[in-house]
Amino acid sequence: MFEALGNRLTGVFDKLRRRGALSDADVAEALREVRVALLEADVALPVVKDLVNRVRDRAVGQEVIRSVSPAQQVIKIVNDALVEALGGGEGDDGKRGIDLNAPSPLPILMVGLQGSGKTTTSGKIALRLRTRDRKKVLLASLDVHRPAAQLQLQQLADRAEVTCLPIVAGQKPLEIAARALDVARRELFDVVILDTAGRLSIDAELMAEVAAVKAFAKPHETLLVVDAMTGQDSVQTARAFNEQVGVTGIVMTRVDGDARGGAALSMRAVTGAPIKLLGAGEKLDALEDFHPDRIANRILGMGDIVSLVERAAETIDQAEAEKLARKMQKGSFDLEDYAQQIKQIGKMGSLSGILGMLPGIGKMKAQIENANLDQSMLKRQAAIISSMTVKERRKPELIKASRKKRIAAGSGTTVQEVNRLLKQFDDMSDMMKRMNKMGQKGMMRGGLA
Ligand code: GDP
Repeated sequence: MFEALGNRLTGVFDKLRRRGALSDADVAEALREVRVALLEADVALPVVKDLVNRVRDRAVGQEVIRSVSPAQQVIKIVNDALVEALGGGEGDDGKRGIDLNAPSPLPILMVGLQGSGKTTTSGKIALRLRTRDRKKVLLASLDVHRPAAQLQLQQLADRAEVTCLPIVAGQKPLEIAARALDVARRELFDVVILDTAGRLSIDAELMAEVAAVKAFAKPHETLLVVDAMTGQDSVQTARAFNEQVGVTGIVMTRVDGDARGGAALSMRAVTGAPIKLLGAGEKLDALEDFHPDRIANRILGMGDIVSLVERAAETIDQAEAEKLARKMQKGSFDLEDYAQQIKQIGKMGSLSGILGMLPGIGKMKAQIENANLDQSMLKRQAAIISSMTVKERRKPELIKASRKKRIAAGSGTTVQEVNRLLKQFDDMSDMMKRMNKMGQKGMMRGGLA
């Protein structure tokens, strides 16, 4: 029944023996798993290699968080490195979202391949700027190759309740851009969104056209729209656009699909351009700010472990844990310490909930649930211990029949429950003594047992 707690305590000893720091072996083991997760999430190989190396340097020697496994802790370190690589660092804060810090009319150039969601995103941005930032927005389609594209933008503008530049048949992209900027100046628009033509794939003509528009319109933002579902192809697209046109930010669309988001990481690494927004659906309000932590979670697919480690790091008081460990080593662990231990575990939420977060633990979880080792039991145990006098807690052997009755009555439990608790405590003390001996032998052998 006390397996879980026992395992935990064993864990404390293990880690003490490991001198409280993550070892090369711990890290290597966890990184193998991480590497596969990253490759499966479609992160480019060189980016994976670079990340894994950086994590290894950072993780080895890091102080262990007791109560989670070293592998779990490494996964958390990887997660943090991912968040950073995706632009989650503090210095990156200002790079998220559209930069509106420029005189009106502020031109935004939208570029990308056909079908990437460029026109839809133009409409989404227009809606957001109008409603959230209270901007007067003008939309203009420079796509003279597909008349349908101009109509599509007009329809989106209607839905977003913003103005769309009227279509003038026969005008070239530069002429349309000039007209848009002129109208914006005269009619006091705050923002002009120029939606350029796309192609099915990168070609020189398209790039030249987009580059010419950019040189002319001098946009404050040049946003590249890429489809998250196209994975590594989208990274190549981004590289080409950035080299040949230059972009200030990336909008990833279709993150509502099942792409695992590895491309987002490669994108940052390959182009250096920050991801500013995410498209998460066909509706006009399906535009999200970019949250590096959510994408990291998607890439690694181990969000539960990450939150487990975070909770453990927050709730388990390291100093307290070390004090308990020292007491165990000296064999002076008493019921007061035991109550402390229960409190710490209780703080982490229900045990079965925590265990449920760990992969591959289903069987053990069922056993523990059978044994009813859950919150309510921990609470009852805590109640029993708090109904004891300090003397009784320090010297449990004092607790005989009459004291047991008093404690049961005081804690609203039964004598059987008090007995069970005392028995468990005895078993645990025995186990600790044995582990201690083993541990000392191990140390005398001069090694890491
Ligand atoms: P463009 O050729 O780059 O202008 O692409 P469109 O804006 O015409 O979008 C192509 C298709 O993708 C349309 O059917 C859009 O509704 C759809 N689309 C755009 N963005 C998203 C998104 O974030 N999620 C989903 N599921 N569909 C999107």
